[in-house]
Amino acid sequence: MAAFHPNRQSFSSHWLAFTSNRRFHQQPKMVSHAEGIYYYTPDGHQLYDSLSGLWCTPLGHGNKGIAAAINTQMGQLDYAPAFNVSHPQAFELADKLAEMAPGALNHVLFCNSGSEAADTALKLARAYWRAKGRPEKSKFIGRSKGYHGVNFGGISVGGIGGNRKIYGQTLDAYHLPHTWLPENRFSKGLPEQGEHLADALLAILEVQDPSNIAAVMVEPMAGSGGVIIPSAGYLKRLRALCDQHDILLIFDEVITGFGRMGTMFGADYFDVQPDILTCAKALTNGVMPMGAVLASSEIYDCLMNQPGDDYLIEFPHGYTYSAHPLACAAALASLNQLQQPGLLNNVADLAKVFEQAIHELKGLPLVEDIRNIGLAGAIQLTMDAKQPLRHASEISALCWKKGVYVRFGGNNLSFAPPFVCEPEDIREIFARVAEALSDYA
Ligand code: PLP
Repeated sequence: MAAFHPNRQSFSSHWLAFTSNRRFHQQPKMVSHAEGIYYYTPDGHQLYDSLSGLWCTPLGHGNKGIAAAINTQMGQLDYAPAFNVSHPQAFELADKLAEMAPGALNHVLFCNSGSEAADTALKLARAYWRAKGRPEKSKFIGRSKGYHGVNFGGISVGGIGGNRKIYGQTLDAYHLPHTWLPENRFSKGLPEQGEHLADALLAILEVQDPSNIAAVMVEPMAGSGGVIIPSAGYLKRLRALCDQHDILLIFDEVITGFGRMGTMFGADYFDVQPDILTCAKALTNGVMPMGAVLASSEIYDCLMNQPGDDYLIEFPHGYTYSAHPLACAAALASLNQLQQPGLLNNVADLAKVFEQAIHELKGLPLVEDIRNIGLAGAIQLTMDAKQPLRHASEISALCWKKGVYVRFGGNNLSFAPPFVCEPEDIREIFARVAEALSDYA
């Protein structure tokens, strides 16, 4: 296969997503194929995929079972109208998700990404309160360093300033403090301190009043913000406060869903039941764009039981590609693999190797903190006073040369290797990252 080397013209015609395009033009990072746990550049340079793409391909690249399912679906039904019409795989997938999800999250709205899932969930929360006759409950509470995608609802509730500051007016949203505490630095797994941080909700409610608040939305652990894990009791406390004040709790499980923490969902890990759960990414092993919003029976029934004729639409929301047949086929094949006996145990075993390997980097130059949970972790670097975010991007570029694709965001290097890694792959990834850190210093 001839390698494609873009010329300057094609560089500027493709405006890359969430990328420093000017830097990319100087130092393009291109991959042209992938297999298993590796990416390959057009020149044949092999790279470990240390983040499962963007947290989305835990079952590895070129997964034959998923490819076969998509092919079969393509020959059978390539597209079905999403409104007023549906198809069998959509129901099969919704049933499966409802069965896998914790508690009574039995009703599934499909969309095409984590961002769409976030905005769908926020709209659903408002629609629910309106259907209950409480339209004033319309504001949201998110958390500092939270990430819920890039649409207007998601950036409003999200807590990453850089993703909001150039876009002007957002939705009414308030933010809990993030759960990173200096005393928890270098914790292995769940940090000890920080349950009390949930009580910050009370301070917000004191000013805003629960009667105005629709929902609290958080990730069980902040993934894109740098794998920031709350202490064991934090989410339980948040749940209890939401219950006391009649506020919905939404978990954004776009990263934590489907095994990343060693349990099927983050809600299972923390044993906390949300009212709404969003997911995407690993739902299709990243192979087809798809997101989903799982709602409790209480919410579904409330919207279904609104007064009015049967021909009226209960929740006027959805996308041309909601429950796209090819995405449904990819999701069904992925979830079948994720449900194979032993798969999650394997993740839990690999997580022990991962924990040991990532924490061995403690003491290397610039390493300010290391965190891990399940098969996810981050190395937090000290900030350069003049150019705060420079180190992470440059160390990631060095890792690329050493054959490891490493995601950086803010002052963190983040890791979420595929579940199909061998223990020695994980050790090798961190050996190379350690070299990059030492070389950079
Ligand atoms: N929510 C969370 C927790 C995420 O991590 C992400 C993406 O990383 C999103 C939402 C947005 O997903 P997408 O990029 O598919 O829109």
